Amino acid sequence: MLEKLNENITNVFENIEKAAIKSGRKANDIQLIAVTKTIDIDKMKYAQGIGLKNFGENRVQELVKKVDQFNGINWHLIGHLQRNKVRQIIDKVELIHSVDSEKLMKEINIQSSRKNKIMPILIQVNVAQEKSKFGIKIDEVEGFIEQATLYNNIIIKGLMTIAPFEENAELVRPIFSELKEKYDKIKKIEHKNIEFEYLSMGMTNDYIVAIEEGSNMVRIGSAIFGQRNL
Ligand SMILES: *Cc1c(COP(=O)(O)O)cnc(C)c1O
Repeated sequence: MLEKLNENITNVFENIEKAAIKSGRKANDIQLIAVTKTIDIDKMKYAQGIGLKNFGENRVQELVKKVDQFNGINWHLIGHLQRNKVRQIIDKVELIHSVDSEKLMKEINIQSSRKNKIMPILIQVNVAQEKSKFGIKIDEVEGFIEQATLYNNIIIKGLMTIAPFEENAELVRPIFSELKEKYDKIKKIEHKNIEFEYLSMGMTNDYIVAIEEGSNMVRIGSAIFGQRNL
């Protein structure tokens, strides 16, 4: 079981490197977030031992339960976040990937100001406008960023998307290139509270294509830990 984990992580790193080189970058330019939802602590400890330092969880309750059992891990909240749960995670996570409304951004600002911190966040964009997914529309991004200047205790570090699931990841290549274009455009603008650094896109099924199109942060679960049962 653990040997398999080792092999999986090696494969993922190799694929990341190849895709990075293909897009004119180095493996080190891409951050790997190991998505640990439903994964037990022992397996996660083993993955940490191999060198993984960034863990992503999509549920607040699970994240909060796991955080205390680790040292030296950067935690990422990658799933939909309800406003009434912001308080529970605000001093536990490195980056919130899933900010999808101004109300949520406002609440994050309130809670982080109470903790005297500045919370790094990503705006989740629903590029394909799937009904089943969270995220703002791509043409709403600039307006959203204007609003962010009102809040002193957040910093917008970039954009995140979840592409539609396609057996053939080539089909979602245009989704990634569209968001990369938006990311590059905004990165050039000088703005209070905006400091674009991360473009979080790519999961097990499509991370190679996402990196080729300019992603610098991939969120990978099953390619590392195996198929989830849930
Ligand atoms: C579960 C999840 C992932 C990882 O999915 P895999 O297909 O297992 O790699 C990435 N991002 C989000 C937001 C998730 O919820």
